Amino acid sequence: QQIYVDPSRRDLFLELMESTDTLTEFESQIRRKDGSIIWISENVRAVRTLQGKTLYFEGTVEDVTKRRTAEEALRVSEERFALAANGMNGGLWDWDLRTGKVYYSPRWKELTGEPQCIGDSPEEWWVRLFPRDRELVDRELQACLQGRTDRFEVEFRLRQADGNFHWMQASGMAQGHDPDKPPVRIAGSMVDISARKQAEDQLHQGALYDTLTTLPNRALFVDRLRRSLRRRGNRLVAVLFLDLDRFKLVNESYDHSVGDEVLRQIASRLERNAGVRDTVARFSGDEFGILLEGITDVNDAIRTADQVRRSVEEPITVGERVHSFSASVGISFSKVGTESSEDLLRDAETAMYRAKSLGKAQHVLFDQAMHEYTLRRLQLENDLRLAIDRKEFRVYYQPIVSLSDQKLRGFEALVRWMHPERGLVPPTAFIPLAEETGLICEIGRWVLEDSCLQVSRWMELYPEATGGIHLSVNLSGRQFAQSDLVEQIQGAMRLGGFPASALKLEITESILMENADSAAGILAQIREMGIRLSIDDFGTGYSSLSYLHQFPAQTLKIDRSFVSKIEEETTQFAIVRAVVSLAHVMGMDVVAEGIETTSQLDVLGQLGCEYGQGYLFAKPLPAAEIEAMLARLEHEGAPSPDLGA
Ligand code: C2E
Ligand code: MG
Ligand code: MG
Repeated sequence: QQIYVDPSRRDLFLELMESTDTLTEFESQIRRKDGSIIWISENVRAVRTLQGKTLYFEGTVEDVTKRRTAEEALRVSEERFALAANGMNGGLWDWDLRTGKVYYSPRWKELTGEPQCIGDSPEEWWVRLFPRDRELVDRELQACLQGRTDRFEVEFRLRQADGNFHWMQASGMAQGHDPDKPPVRIAGSMVDISARKQAEDQLHQGALYDTLTTLPNRALFVDRLRRSLRRRGNRLVAVLFLDLDRFKLVNESYDHSVGDEVLRQIASRLERNAGVRDTVARFSGDEFGILLEGITDVNDAIRTADQVRRSVEEPITVGERVHSFSASVGISFSKVGTESSEDLLRDAETAMYRAKSLGKAQHVLFDQAMHEYTLRRLQLENDLRLAIDRKEFRVYYQPIVSLSDQKLRGFEALVRWMHPERGLVPPTAFIPLAEETGLICEIGRWVLEDSCLQVSRWMELYPEATGGIHLSVNLSGRQFAQSDLVEQIQGAMRLGGFPASALKLEITESILMENADSAAGILAQIREMGIRLSIDDFGTGYSSLSYLHQFPAQTLKIDRSFVSKIEEETTQFAIVRAVVSLAHVMGMDVVAEGIETTSQLDVLGQLGCEYGQGYLFAKPLPAAEIEAMLARLEHEGAPSPDLGA
């Protein structure tokens, strides 16, 4: 036979026809002559004898292959859809706009938190929408319904069974999109994006809030200050700038978690003591700001500052330890018209620094004099930057002599600024600002290079006069924060072939205290290179002899303030005597700074102090004058006791 019918269908056909005379829409697959397989549908009647014997079947056959293939494709796609729907995190919805009914997938229903209650009306979605999101969702949906667009995507909050709202994202597509005709169906998905939203919120929070204390940060503070200045009318706006006194010590002495806890407790005290409408912010480290809005007079701000300071002074318990602090507060006020938020904040900060310099634990109101001071400082900072470019710095050299025979033992390099208008500016007038702004790093590097080069030249030209001398160069704390300090020093020495053994670096105790960790490593490397270290201005800083012990210095320089009073005040004499003998016990030699009289020289000599520098011997001198002196010494042979310039 040329036409082949699926045998199982044929058997079924015959079986069915035994109990019936007619069969309608019986479908089976057959193979045609050309080998192709098609679906047919038969309507059949059995023609039988009176005795019931089947003579033949008659009827119609229809090719239904098209329909069957379409059905098959639909079945496959439905299966695929079901698989996808179950597999995906999102729920599906399918809105038939003709019937008004919505199909919600099981996952969609789950996303509402109450799957058993969900029917098939669009209301299910609508009633759960966060009220303020309705307008947005409606707008997107209408665009689709009116045929203006065929797809939409929208984020909204959906109420859960427990009353909370979760962020969802729905995207959908309209079917039968045609600008003239409304669509008949809109379908799409919905996913829970709460986790993503939360992460976004945290990012946002991090940009505006301080993570440690959860207080607003500086950016948010400035923003609120700006707004408040804009709408203040006649009311006064005040900024309190608060800085804890001695907080640094806690961080240095204990684990950082202790400092963190202290800051958290301080933060909540500040919040408690500020008004509900005021903004308390943490700027950085131990710096806080309070924005007082709508106060009526200056005394309101002073009262708050007092309250806040008292609250900070209450003991703070962390673990088993009780700490106590105080705060310095600067206060600035809005004046009519002129100032910006940045100005107000800066003024409060300036006043805070004034409070610190007046002895801490107090508040200071910003005034005009301070404003002028700030302006001068700004001017100085600008000039200082220019001075670096214009090479306006000079190194002066002050001889250091042996007290026993007053022979030259070395020089201290002391920087000077040749200001085009102001003339020679002493370092005390610009070094502190240079340190604050970091400009000291560049200045310090230049001093190192210039003085090493200069002294190398002198060593070549006047080998006799410079035999065995040292060059002492001051280093500031900021320079220790540079990772390439050691390379800078090496570079400076390489320029003129300066011997490491002739270099001494002067550092103060506070540098050692404040950079204890980083300094130790750098100092060890410097020592390794054969460079010596001096502790400068000893007696003016922490004067912690136990600390001193840890640092590999060979020389101790007693500060001028002790030397100048050594004759009149017995305590100063006693201190110098103790320091000299302590230094000797620790294997260090001692240089006395600022010797101006012969009687000071005599006393220091008796106490066993080895070296000294001061106006009695020579002031810091420009290179040309030192050179003249060296030439004379060289000429006379050995270094002479007579340095008289
Ligand atoms: P310092 O390192 O303690 O320098 C000694 C200061 O005492 C110098 O002040 C010097 O001129 C002054 N002096 C010396 N003998 C006498 C004296 O007999 N009587 C009086 N009244 N003063 C005397 P100078 O040059 O004004 O420097 C001040 C400070 O500036 C220095 O104190 C040092 O800390 C800093 N400094 C100077 N140059 C540099 C530098 O290149 N880098 C860094 N980081 N600091 C520097
Ligand atoms: Mg010095
Ligand atoms: Mg000194």
